[in-house]
Amino acid sequence: MEIVRVPVLSDNYAWLIHHGGETVALDPGEAAPVVAAAAARGWTIGQVWLTHWHPDHVGGAGEIRAQGARVAGPAAEAARIEGLHTLLSEGDDIAIGDARATIWSVPGHTAGHIAFHFADRALIFTGDTLFAMGCGRLFEGTAAQMHANMRRFAALPEDTRVYCGHEYTLSNARFAAVAEPDNTAIAARLADVTAMREQGEPTIPTTIALERATNPFLRSVDPDELARHRAAKDAFKG
Ligand code: ZN
Ligand code: FE
Repeated sequence: MEIVRVPVLSDNYAWLIHHGGETVALDPGEAAPVVAAAAARGWTIGQVWLTHWHPDHVGGAGEIRAQGARVAGPAAEAARIEGLHTLLSEGDDIAIGDARATIWSVPGHTAGHIAFHFADRALIFTGDTLFAMGCGRLFEGTAAQMHANMRRFAALPEDTRVYCGHEYTLSNARFAAVAEPDNTAIAARLADVTAMREQGEPTIPTTIALERATNPFLRSVDPDELARHRAAKDAFKG
């Protein structure tokens, strides 16, 4: 399986997943760069997979659908996403070639947000739920929901690679360093991430091991702690 990061809009990542001769575009916030990245590799996008309804994730889906792709997304957000062929809910799975992703319902950022977990390949696409050193804003859900999501992500094998929807890591790292001033793993990662971004390098994917060590939201012991971090991050000028 090959996974290609495609930067779109200001700080989004769309992902191309290529396996068994098939290509999926995950969260194509705009079509042109995603279609171009596929074409450059000789790939044709046969499916679009969407994590949630926000325009910066679905904006390119219609154009790729018009070129013949099948579109799959959260059943709970079908009324807010045009043209879904396949409706996905907790426990469903969806295939690319002979690889299968299991759907997780991870509400909080949006009410119907889903994640795509390839358990036997140890990778997960988390959209705007789990970010490197952060989590999504709570637009349509509660801290309790997001905390439950974080518990679930934290229980994945340590080597699981995490592919999220935005390059927010530097801002998240600066906040994390304030939220947990005595955490030396956070201090070290802030230095790493700062250097990477100065070089224009992406910081995604991350891993569950790194997030367990350095993500204050994933590390929150209860919903109240997550809520405190979320409120502080929303107001953070780092
Ligand atoms: Zn979003
Ligand atoms: Fe987003």
